[in-house]
Amino acid sequence: MKKWKLIILTGILLLTGCQSKTPVTKELFAMDTYMTMTAYGKDAEKALDQAAAEIRRLDQLWSVGQEKSEVSQINQSGSGPVSPETGELMDLSLSLYEATDGALDITIYPVMDLWGFTGKDRKVPSDEELEQTLAKVDASRIRYDGQTVTLEEGQGIDFGAVAKGYTSGRVMEVLAENGVTGALISLGGNVQCMGTKPDGSLWRVGIQKPDGGEGYLGVLTLTDKAVITSGGYERYFEENGKTYHHIIDPSTGFPADSGLTSVTIVSEEGALADGLSTACFVMGKDKAYELWKKSPDRFDMILLTEEGELYITAPLQGMFTSDMEFSVLEE
Ligand code: AMP
Ligand code: MG
Repeated sequence: MKKWKLIILTGILLLTGCQSKTPVTKELFAMDTYMTMTAYGKDAEKALDQAAAEIRRLDQLWSVGQEKSEVSQINQSGSGPVSPETGELMDLSLSLYEATDGALDITIYPVMDLWGFTGKDRKVPSDEELEQTLAKVDASRIRYDGQTVTLEEGQGIDFGAVAKGYTSGRVMEVLAENGVTGALISLGGNVQCMGTKPDGSLWRVGIQKPDGGEGYLGVLTLTDKAVITSGGYERYFEENGKTYHHIIDPSTGFPADSGLTSVTIVSEEGALADGLSTACFVMGKDKAYELWKKSPDRFDMILLTEEGELYITAPLQGMFTSDMEFSVLEE
């Protein structure tokens, strides 16, 4: 090879090497929330553009705020065909409904609407309204044959509890397909990461304090995992001095009051982590612990109680650090 050719080639290699050592970042607003994505890899920019397009596509399938979304069409007409992605969310949601004794119930939608969480006018409903609307909430009455969903009269569905986690899992696939070697994304605080930084180091994910205080409940150092948190502090309103938040206990129709203020689920599967964070927030510490003991290899949890007690499941030891005292839940 001629000397000048070698110089140019080395130059190009050095340049691409430098490029993939610098992270590319992209921010967007979708699914009602701010999202940030950081990725390493020589085509990271293109990969993130594709990821953003995928997020927008999924948002258009599931947004209850958009009349033309697949979910809105089903809610309006009571029945409709589902795309493969919606089918996957349906399967997961129905299996989690069973596994969590109904704590995760996507037919909660009419109750969310009654509380005004789907629009701007939030209010505490009357007992009578709540009783009537709650009578429609029961995911076991959805008919779903793998292709078409049929709801009962008055029922409506909402994938708000699982959609962001599914999406972060899907984004990881898109990034990997595009040669990304390391990435961390946060979809409104729901985090998923893959690979490593160019120096081989892992990702550090801070768990937010539910009272918005400084610092973190703790920090996880890890990779190839979704880290998804549910808490009443994310969306709420106040009426007559009382606070009402957006995670509803399907057995009462009221905001969940299980004694937990924050639930973080760590799992390889984003959608599962998201569904379980919402469900465990409804179930409370003891039932969440029972659920974890049935499948400790699929997910882990960090729980904070109203009394300020912090718990982590045993496999998180070694990746979790905190200034707070915490107890370890063993199998
Ligand atoms: P997350 O932030 O993942 O905990 O999800 C909360 C969102 O899920 C809410 O804004 C509602 O759209 C929906 N939701 C609230 N309560 C439930 C429930 N018990 N089961 C299923 N979805 C719910
Ligand atoms: Mg969730």
